[in-house]
Amino acid sequence: MNFVKFLGTAGARFVVIKQLRASGGIWFSLKGTQFLVDPGPGCLVRALKSRPALQPEKLNGLFLSHKHLDHSGDINIMVEAMTNGGFMPQGVLLAPEDALEGDPVVFRYLRSFLQRIEVLKENREYRLGELRLRVPIRHQHGVETFGFVLQSDGLPGIGYVPDTRFFPELPQAYSGSKILIVNTVLVQPRPDLYHLSLPEAEEVIKQLRPEKAILTHFGMTMLKAKIWEKTEEISQRTGVQVLAASDGLTFSLDN
Ligand SMILES: [Zn+2]
Repeated sequence: MNFVKFLGTAGARFVVIKQLRASGGIWFSLKGTQFLVDPGPGCLVRALKSRPALQPEKLNGLFLSHKHLDHSGDINIMVEAMTNGGFMPQGVLLAPEDALEGDPVVFRYLRSFLQRIEVLKENREYRLGELRLRVPIRHQHGVETFGFVLQSDGLPGIGYVPDTRFFPELPQAYSGSKILIVNTVLVQPRPDLYHLSLPEAEEVIKQLRPEKAILTHFGMTMLKAKIWEKTEEISQRTGVQVLAASDGLTFSLDN
């Protein structure tokens, strides 16, 4: 089974601390490789309570786009869960350097549980089981932040555009994404907040023309807007099918 499951769709502080949406990150199961992206607060609970349950000890890796709490809150417990409490050292952690050094969000005592840690750099490719992750460009966010374009034989390329301010090089950096996941926190552009808004997500979609785009990581203004109407409008204007993720959404890649 090849799927992407949204264990949370909350973005930024207030939606997360009030849990207006869950904040468990995104679980990928592709070609027998399972990996988890941005395990925010509640990830472990959401994974175990999924039906069918997702099994952290089956994970091959964890990808942390950046150290902010809404992305990293459960990173340590997910390392422990992936490695069966540390008794079964395995799995890869992909994370930016500033999530590992200085004021790190990954505890040092857990690191020996991992098979390896790879520090994310722009314009690099990483292997995870049968999958190849291309990390195209450093984002413009308060801390070191990276997304990926995931390639695997026989499956469409999947792009993940995590938190960033819009910048002109952003859309083309994610070329090759047939399925595009975009963290869209805001309704209107607020460059001072270093997050994408709907018009900016639309610009990325317009330039890349993926087969499908999925918006997620919603802030307060997005929850107050009628997101499904906004995505429908973007679909009309761009000719690309645009969906708004919901907590627990499973997106199948098998048909
Ligand atoms: Zn952030």
